[in-house]
Amino acid sequence: MAEKRKVKGLMERLRDGETVICAEGYLFVFERRGYLTAGSFVPEVVLEHPELVRQQYEEFVHAGSDVVLAFTYYAHREKMALIGREDDLERINKHALRMAREVADQTGTLMAGNISNTNIFVDTVPDYREKIRQIFKEQLEWIVEAGADYIVAETFDTFGEALIATRACKEFAKDLPCVVTLTCHQGPLTLDGVEYAEAFKQLAEAGADVVGLNCARGPATMLPVLEEAGKLFNKVPLAALPVMYRTTKEQPNFISSIDPISGEPLFPVNLDCIQCNRKDIHDFGKRVQELGIKYVGLCCGNSAHLTRSLAESLGRKPPASRYSADLNKHWLLGHDDKLPLLGQESKTKYATKLAKVEK
Ligand SMILES: [Zn+2]
Repeated sequence: MAEKRKVKGLMERLRDGETVICAEGYLFVFERRGYLTAGSFVPEVVLEHPELVRQQYEEFVHAGSDVVLAFTYYAHREKMALIGREDDLERINKHALRMAREVADQTGTLMAGNISNTNIFVDTVPDYREKIRQIFKEQLEWIVEAGADYIVAETFDTFGEALIATRACKEFAKDLPCVVTLTCHQGPLTLDGVEYAEAFKQLAEAGADVVGLNCARGPATMLPVLEEAGKLFNKVPLAALPVMYRTTKEQPNFISSIDPISGEPLFPVNLDCIQCNRKDIHDFGKRVQELGIKYVGLCCGNSAHLTRSLAESLGRKPPASRYSADLNKHWLLGHDDKLPLLGQESKTKYATKLAKVEK
């Protein structure tokens, strides 16, 4: 058996001022690829096509992720019951975790377990707090058992649920660091009315090792919220994991996004027309460095090419950089000696013809 590589831990990296990249967005990846249903959004692909999940873990590492995040997002009791597969709950969690551990060990990366919003944080559900705590408890116990390096607890649009998650992490996985992120939809407050800086402070006091935002907002509308909160709060490192869509001041999150041409709502299956491009993500990477945000990643809408752009914006050269664009070898744009002789004059003519707009 190959000897397990010694890997530097999350907190050591952050203490040394390193930036940690965590590629996410599995639900949307597999929905696009036709292995998961938009709506219920349950990661059944872990059981149906585990080889694809393993490959996606590897692909994100190849593209520059420092972390293999186990794909257990929405593999919790409430979601599994929604599709009538509660009996598969333990199997799906353990399987996703085991594969993530294996890929992390093979690639010398960190493995994170994942818990998320339960969608039952509504006070019309009797004993909802205890129900949520139990959901987190069972998933956290599997995460610990699988030997995760740390925990990602994410996509909480209420501070209250994030606090239950943080406390559960400290109770059921006390030896593991936890990254706790809220989801910012509209306005300066969480859905239960807490300012982000205040929410971060209280989550850190409850034991969160990294706090921040993930999902819902694209880079353009997420970073200003973090920048403001960061002026008031600096107790623990901040995290930024936006969706890969061009959200705007008028439509600050992807649920509110509308098609710029037809005016129709885009969430969740027609967002492609406002997809962030590589330059957007390169700029995002530069901006998080200016802001001193050390835990970064890409959420819904992520793909390997965007993760690579993020990694390269931080000065990294992940394995996928071997294939980064080299336009000098492009027949029209490049000047490589080996290109067939095509004088500059002809190139300009071609370029003009190709870009010409027919009236
Ligand atoms: Zn997301």
